[in-house]
Amino acid sequence: MAAAWDLARRGQRVAIYEAADYVGGLAAGFRQPHWDWSVEKFYHHWFQSDAHLLGLADELGLRQNIIFPRPYTVLLHKGQWHPFDSIPHALAFPGLGFGLNKARFGLLGLYLRLTGNWRALEKYTAHEWMRKWAGRHVYETMWEPMLIGKFGPYYKDVNMAWFWARLKSRTTRLGTYTGGFQQFSDDFAEKLRSMGVAIHLNSPVSRIDPDPQGGLTLQLGTRPPENYAQALITTSPGLLAKIAPSLPEDYLAGLASLKSMGAVVMIFSLKHQLSEQGWYWFNIPKNAGYPFLALVEHTNFVPPEHFGGEHLIYCGDYLTTDHENFSLTKEELAAKFIPHFAKFNPNFTPDWINESWLFRTPYAQPIPLVNHSRNIPAIQTPLAGLYFASMSQVYPWDRGTNFAVEIGRKAAGMMARD
Ligand SMILES: Cc1cc2nc3c(=O)[nH]c(=O)nc-3n(C[C@H](O)[C@H](O)[C@H](O)COP(=O)(O)OP(=O)(O)OC[C@H]3O[C@@H](n4cnc5c(N)ncnc54)[C@H](O)[C@@H]3O)c2cc1C
Repeated sequence: MAAAWDLARRGQRVAIYEAADYVGGLAAGFRQPHWDWSVEKFYHHWFQSDAHLLGLADELGLRQNIIFPRPYTVLLHKGQWHPFDSIPHALAFPGLGFGLNKARFGLLGLYLRLTGNWRALEKYTAHEWMRKWAGRHVYETMWEPMLIGKFGPYYKDVNMAWFWARLKSRTTRLGTYTGGFQQFSDDFAEKLRSMGVAIHLNSPVSRIDPDPQGGLTLQLGTRPPENYAQALITTSPGLLAKIAPSLPEDYLAGLASLKSMGAVVMIFSLKHQLSEQGWYWFNIPKNAGYPFLALVEHTNFVPPEHFGGEHLIYCGDYLTTDHENFSLTKEELAAKFIPHFAKFNPNFTPDWINESWLFRTPYAQPIPLVNHSRNIPAIQTPLAGLYFASMSQVYPWDRGTNFAVEIGRKAAGMMARD
C-alpha cells in the first residue's frame, strides 16, 4: 500500500491484488458489531521512533488519529511481576541484584543504545556475544529467555545486530490508531482508491511469469490473466518462490535459505479486568511453565469502553510450524491456556470468559542468522519488472509496519526509476 501510494502520486496506473477479503495483512484487525474499535488479530503497536510510518501518516493526513498512551510492560522474576520497560525500571529490577551484574547490564545497554556499528555485531550470534560481554548471569537472567521465547530452537543462531536493533529503536510510549490498526488500513485504502488505485480483494495471485510480448502476466485463479509492466510481491519468500517459479535458481535458493518463525495468538474477551495493576504486556520466560510467551491485556492499552466494556487479552507465542499449537483446535488451546489466567489474577474464574478467537500464521518473524546482510534477497529480482519486498528483507531492524512502509517505498522508488 505504501508503494502504491508513491507510484500513484507519480501518475502511474496501480492495482493491488489482495488474497484476503480485507486490507492490512498481518496488521489487520476485526470488530464485533457492538465494538467501536477493532482489535488487531496479532497484537500491534507503534513506537515513537517509527519515523517512516508516522511520516506516511502525515502525508496521508491521518497523523492526528495516532495516539501514544503509556502502557506498562512487566517481567517475571521469582514468581513476581516487575515493571521492565524503562531505564529506571530496569535499574529497580531485582533480578540482577544491585552490584556488578546490574552495572554490566546498564553499561552494555548504554553501549548498544549509543553504537551504530551493527555490521560489526552481525558477525556474532547474540548468544555468544551477550554471554561474553554481559556475562553469563546477566545473559541467562535477562536476555536468553527473550531469545528462546522469540526464536525457539533457533535462539542460538540469531545474530547480535538483531538484538542491537531492538534496544536501539524502541520507546516506552506505544502508539495505536483511533479505531484500531484496521481503521488505519481502511483509511489508507480509501485514500488510495480516491487516487485511482484499484484494490482487488479476494484476489490471490497464483502465478507471475514474464510475458513474451513484454511485461509480466499475472494468473488470478479462474479469472483471465492480467498483464502489467511491473509487479511488486509482498508475500513471504516461500510464497514468492511458488508464485514466480521462473525466477533463476540462485535467487530461488536464496529465498529457500531464509528462516522464519510462525505465530499462534489467541484472544479472549473477559467480563473483568485481568491485571488489576493495569499492566499491558507480560513477558514470560519459557522456563516459567506457562503455555504462552506473552500475555497482553489490550484493554490496559486501549480502554475497554471501545469494546463494549469487554476486557481483551491476548495469549501469544512465536513457534515453528511443526509445534502442536499449529494443529490443536481452538477449544484444545483454550483448555491449555485458561488454567494459567489465575496466576495473573487470583479471582479469575473461567466464567469470566465471554468469547475467544484464534489466529495463526506460519510467517511471523524472520530469523536473521550470522552475516544476514549478505543473504538478503534483492528487492529487484532477476526477472525484469518483478520486485520483492517482505519482512525477511527488513534489516537490521526488527520487522514491523514501520519498516514495511520503508521497504515498500524503497521498492516503489526502484520501480519508478526503472
Ligand atoms: C504476532 C505479530 C506481532 C506483530 N507486532 C507488530 C507490532 O507491534 N508493530 C508493528 O509495527 N508490526 C508488528 N508486526 C509486524 C507487522 O505485522 C508486519 O511487519 C507487516 O504486517 C508486514 O507487512 P507486509 O505488507 O510486508 O506483509 P503482510 O502484512 O504479511 O501482507 C502481505 C499480504 O499479502 C497477501 N497475500 C498473500 N498471498 C497472496 C497472493 N498469492 N496474492 C495476493 N495477496 C496475497 C496477504 O493476504 C497479506 O495481506 C507483528 C507481526 C506479528 C505476526
